[in-house]
Amino acid sequence: MIKRLTIAIDGPAGAGKSTVARGVAERLGYTYVDTGAMYRAVALQSLRLGISPKDEEGMAALLDETSIVYRTGKTLLNGEDVSEDIRTPQVTALVSGVARIPLVRAFLVECQRRMGAEGGVVMDGRDVGTVILPEAELKIFLTASLQERARRRQLEWLARGAEVTWEEVEQEIGVRDKMDRERKVGPLRIADDAVVIDSTELDVNEVVDQIVQLALAIKGEETP
Ligand code: C5P
Repeated sequence: MIKRLTIAIDGPAGAGKSTVARGVAERLGYTYVDTGAMYRAVALQSLRLGISPKDEEGMAALLDETSIVYRTGKTLLNGEDVSEDIRTPQVTALVSGVARIPLVRAFLVECQRRMGAEGGVVMDGRDVGTVILPEAELKIFLTASLQERARRRQLEWLARGAEVTWEEVEQEIGVRDKMDRERKVGPLRIADDAVVIDSTELDVNEVVDQIVQLALAIKGEETP
């Protein structure tokens, strides 16, 4: 058996990356890392401290005094479990503005690279295959139609008790995608060597299966 792989899963909001990445990690016995959760934790801290993402000095000071750890599915902000707090509409509305700041990206990318260095990792985000782990053995760009992504996100919000319309969700992910695609540092884009999977017509298990097959083929193993 060759070494444990590094698997990057990138794509726009609501494509199902985290559910799929968690499923792939479980099947392969790998660690799952949600890089978006770490950007959300920085956004939460800026909200809590009342620091605008436009205030460069303020954001630099915030990063100096902030530790963000993603471990076993939990997001820790200065040691506090903020896994729930980072999913609010307020954080969601702010996060792409925070993720555009080069200083914030440099801070988190360094930390995420360390998390991926040993292999045996499935990492999902926007720039995993292009910036964080460009040497990843398997890169997936997971997408779906905007309509389908908005439908899935709306179901997630409703399950959490938030009353949102489909139109509101479509607008929210549309704005985030645009900011994520158009930023100068680490924009959302398809890595040259990525496999593109369109999940519009697929369920989670079908996507997980496809990725696990690709991983096993790289490892030179048969399907279990
Ligand atoms: O994955 P999730 O939707 O939770 O990510 C929240 C936001 O974090 C994204 O809209 C994007 O602005 C930012 N992000 C990023 N780079 C990553 C992961 C997330 O810029 N690798």
